[in-house]
Amino acid sequence: MRLKKTISDVDPSRLNGRTVLVRVDYNVPVNDRQVVDDRRIRLSLPTLELLLGAGAKVVLLSHLGRPGGMVVPELSLAPAVDCLGSLLGMPVKLITHTDASTQASVVQRASDKQILVLENTRFLEGEIANDADLAMGWAELGELFVNDAFGTAHRAHASTSGLAKAMVARGYEAVSGLLIARELQFLDEALRAPDRPLTAILGGAKISGKIDVIDAFLSRVDRLLIGGAMANTFMRALGFETGSSLVEDDRVALAAELVEKGADQLVLPADFIVAREIKEGAGMRVLDRSQISAGDRIVDIGPETRARFREVIRWSKSIVWNGPMGVFEIESFSEGTVEVAHSVADACDRGALGIIGGGDSGAAAEQAGVASRISHVSTGGGASLKLFSGATLPGIESLTDRL
Ligand code: ADP
Ligand code: MG
Repeated sequence: MRLKKTISDVDPSRLNGRTVLVRVDYNVPVNDRQVVDDRRIRLSLPTLELLLGAGAKVVLLSHLGRPGGMVVPELSLAPAVDCLGSLLGMPVKLITHTDASTQASVVQRASDKQILVLENTRFLEGEIANDADLAMGWAELGELFVNDAFGTAHRAHASTSGLAKAMVARGYEAVSGLLIARELQFLDEALRAPDRPLTAILGGAKISGKIDVIDAFLSRVDRLLIGGAMANTFMRALGFETGSSLVEDDRVALAAELVEKGADQLVLPADFIVAREIKEGAGMRVLDRSQISAGDRIVDIGPETRARFREVIRWSKSIVWNGPMGVFEIESFSEGTVEVAHSVADACDRGALGIIGGGDSGAAAEQAGVASRISHVSTGGGASLKLFSGATLPGIESLTDRL
């Protein structure tokens, strides 16, 4: 991807008294009107503090959940706004009006060094449809656009690539924020000519979204370890029984092709932990992959596979991991995931580059107590996979080039 301008490339004196629109990712878990995990909000602070420090007026945009183009009160950004206000120690105002002229007058009346937040962008139908008029209405509120929402950078929506294009069409710049700049430093720049061996580890349950990038991965990596429910689809492709395990039938043929194509790179599980049910202590057994039968459910990789994965990770100089190895939320099925997390952290301690993408994998590293030892834990699952597979991300592609 071409190098893009970041907020650090903008002369701070040009920010003083300006209105800056910032797309953040405040798609945070909310329970009972409280933000349950404020990581994404905290990660937005460096960019916001830079802008406020330079004397800008800041208008934030974010989506939350999937309201489907209408107002869903439970998906209001109000809890995120309260959380941001207490993190910054200043009042932050939520603008619930959706018509452009009212928004414009509220923004105009606010003083510099203030933060205003527009209500959930997905309350409007035009957001996901990438409606150009909606994007232009937002663009007219400010004089610079900063995209700092890496988690949605792979989607072309009105508040991401649409707004960037509208801002550029008005003769202003669209740049990345500090969070996206850091993501690109790891996921794009550092992996352009990685130290080898380069190993990717794929798991998790979003099989269709991930299996489609494997082809691209095979052209880049030395080894590709497959675990999680993704492995089950490969087992079927190899002709093994998978019992009542999670499998995506319509991807079995693709998995068979990949097994042939990636014969020298793919490392598939040799054994599994199976259970009768996805429930703590539900009759766990260790089985060779050829021994699985009708009532069994694959819930984790087995001990032989764990040892094999550990070896491969140990000699890797660069590692990209997306997706847990099993149902790690249940302690007795978490061993494979925890062991991979430790192996990646150990490799990082020895100087390897280790990158984790994917919400659940990040949570698993956190749970295993190793997250701080990993070179980079990305805020974007889908976006990081796409970037690593060589695709361009619309939310970044639409930003102003760094000349
Ligand atoms: P990430 O968020 O890291 O991208 P995913 O969302 O794709 O990962 O997948 C995470 C989920 O995958 C977890 O909830 C985990 O329980 C589930 N999972 C992993 N392995 C299996 C399996 N063998 N069977 C069913 N679910 C699994
Ligand atoms: Mg997930």
